[in-house]
Amino acid sequence: MEERVGDHARIGPTTRLECKVCWHVYDPSAGDPVWQIPPGTPFTQLPAHWTCPNCSTTKDGFLVLHDD
Ligand SMILES: [Zn+2]
Repeated sequence: MEERVGDHARIGPTTRLECKVCWHVYDPSAGDPVWQIPPGTPFTQLPAHWTCPNCSTTKDGFLVLHDD
């Protein structure tokens, strides 16, 4: 089941997102050791209760990072 976030259509399996509060970056290739999220987990597959491991901002507070 997928979670709807603001830029959902632009979030791919390797898309990184940045917390708009503390600039923490969620990188799918690294996962999230704080939440015991295994590497390779897309942002859209994070549990619904996942929040920023740094400042507890919800997924809605994350912005898509562009590589270009
Ligand atoms: Zn944060």
